[in-house]
Amino acid sequence: MGRMDSRTLVVVGAGVVGAAVAAAAAARFSEVYCIEARPKPGMMTSSRNSGVLHSGIYYAPGSVKGRLCLRGNHLLREFCQRHDVPLRACGKLIVAAEPAQEAALAALLRRGKTNGVEGLEWLDGAGARRREPAIQAHAAIAVPSAGVMDADALVRALVRLATDRGAVFAPGTELLGAEAQGTRLRLHCNSGDFDADLVVNSAGLYADDVARMFGETRFQIHPVRGEYCHIHPRRLDWVHGLIYPLPTALSLGMHATRTVHDSLLLGPTAHSVASKEDYENGWPPVEFFLEQGRHLFPGLQMDDLTPGYSGIRPKLVLPEGDDRQATARAPEGDFIIERDARHPGVVHLVGIESPGLTACLAIAEVVEALLAA
Ligand SMILES: Cc1cc2nc3c(=O)[nH]c(=O)nc-3n(C[C@H](O)[C@H](O)[C@H](O)COP(=O)(O)OP(=O)(O)OC[C@H]3O[C@@H](n4cnc5c(N)ncnc54)[C@H](O)[C@@H]3O)c2cc1C
Repeated sequence: MGRMDSRTLVVVGAGVVGAAVAAAAAARFSEVYCIEARPKPGMMTSSRNSGVLHSGIYYAPGSVKGRLCLRGNHLLREFCQRHDVPLRACGKLIVAAEPAQEAALAALLRRGKTNGVEGLEWLDGAGARRREPAIQAHAAIAVPSAGVMDADALVRALVRLATDRGAVFAPGTELLGAEAQGTRLRLHCNSGDFDADLVVNSAGLYADDVARMFGETRFQIHPVRGEYCHIHPRRLDWVHGLIYPLPTALSLGMHATRTVHDSLLLGPTAHSVASKEDYENGWPPVEFFLEQGRHLFPGLQMDDLTPGYSGIRPKLVLPEGDDRQATARAPEGDFIIERDARHPGVVHLVGIESPGLTACLAIAEVVEALLAA
């Protein structure tokens, strides 16, 4: 192995992205710290999602999201196998329930092919029901490279790998402010100060607040919550893989997921909330899930559904006139991975919403290249 880079790197946030960055960076830098405000890694968005390994079909051609989703899908399959992280390569169906949705479905298929997603297949209603007999379908796209994983196990495996490589995780350590000290940075935390040569801001919902600590004020994160219901286990044979409707303006749509632990989920919803910490107020009634769920499963009943959990999407809002505004609008909002204009040793990761779980290892590759340059 070549000589290690002796600069000190501090990663802010131990979600799946921060943990992936720490694991990759610990192979290059001799001192890597990952500070995390919560009592343990992965307690925020990284453990409040669908756990889906996305294929890359949805994203605008040429977008960072699209490229890193495809690369991340490939890297994560290998990683999960090597590190015993449960991942089921079950594939997914994206369903047009009615003839009126066929044109949008066909456009999605074209986009997926342009993005280089392999194995996509157009199915008529009968073909779709042969795979998932309980659904209502006029047509569907079969996406074999999608899957489902255990996101908590993934975070644990990344933390383990990073730690084995010498990284140090500091849970309960919140970054409160930062200031330049010559070429270095002093990081003020609730538990004391850290000095760093390099900093990666992977603070998820709080990436805009952390960016402001370095003087970067352009980003604003808008919290958009998604809630899930559990579907009763008696419906287990309704869902063999992943079953999605067409995407909406704000999300990929309320879908049915059979988790790696063989439980069934319906969700997530998508609506703005006032606070980045508001996981509870104003939950939609179960009737809402029933109404949405019946677009996919006409036989769904009220007593099939029990309220589950929620997660909050870090939707990026850029100021008017920013030249990335065109791609920052939902659902095309792109990931931002860039060096701070004032402090070249600081890299900001902002707007890492879905498919951030799928893309985590690919994001880490990009960050590592930026840090090494
Ligand atoms: C409802 C929902 C469903 C989703 N489904 C999928 C899916 O199926 N597939 C997929 O690929 N992606 C999905 N995603 C997206 C995916 O979950 C996220 O992109 C990913 O988890 C982001 O990880 P992260 O590490 O950037 O953020 P987080 O997990 O939020 O981690 C950021 C960490 O930074 C810490 N932090 C914040 N501020 C500070 C500070 N000042 N000091 C120290 N620490 C700080 C936080 O405590 C947190 O632990 C979904 C997201 C949502 C909300």
